[in-house]
Formats: sequence, C-alpha cells, structure tokens
Amino acid sequence: MEKDKTFANRKSHSEPGPGDGGRTGSWRVLRPVIDPEKCIPAKTNKKACFSCWIFCPDGVITKTKLPVIDYEYCKGCGICAEECPTGAITMVEETLVIMEEEK
Ligand code: SF4
Ligand code: SF4
Repeated sequence: MEKDKTFANRKSHSEPGPGDGGRTGSWRVLRPVIDPEKCIPAKTNKKACFSCWIFCPDGVITKTKLPVIDYEYCKGCGICAEECPTGAITMVEETLVIMEEEK
C-alpha cells in the first residue's frame, strides 16, 4: 500500500456550536489561564506549538501568537493544560477568579 504523504498535514479540529447550545454558562469549576512568559508562540513571536489549539475538544482556543481562550464556551476540562509542553496553562478555581474580579 502506498504511504499517504499528506497524512502528517491533516488535522481534525472542532469548533463551538452556534447559538446558546454549546455555551458553558456558570457551571465551569476551573478556568485555564495562559502565562505569556511560558507560552512558546508568545515568547518567540513565531507561529509554533499550538498544542492547546489542537487538543481543545471545544475548539475555543485561537491559533494566535498569544492564544486566546473563549470562556463563553470553555468547559474547564483541563486538556489544554495537560497537553501544553511548557506548563504555560494553569487551571484556576473559578471562585478565586470571581473573588479577584469583585475586589
Ligand atoms: S500549548 Fe502551551 S506553549 Fe503551546 S501555544 Fe498553547 S499555551 Fe502556548
Ligand atoms: S479547559 Fe478544555 S475546553 Fe477549556 S480551553 Fe482548555 S481544553 Fe478547551
């Protein structure tokens, strides 16, 4: 069988659903926060890595030099933090974020 040379370039990537269907609401317990000091594309100013973008099951992370997470749709599953090779993503308790915002 001939080897498929395009295989390495293929990607499977999901996107948030339209309307309110995929919105998270207020039930997320943990919020992923990206540290730009540790994030490869942000540090190098190069389009590199993006493991978080690839692995997020909800497709809510942008493929930009500092990736941005859409918290309207992020479910807080923590997969992005697990897959980040530099530990740039920390899962922070939502209650702590809310308390900080209310200060
Ligand atoms: S996986 Fe980590 S280092 Fe890579 S782009 Fe995402 S936050 Fe940055
Ligand atoms: S916590 Fe889960 S849903 Fe939220 S950005 Fe990370 S991988 Fe995507």
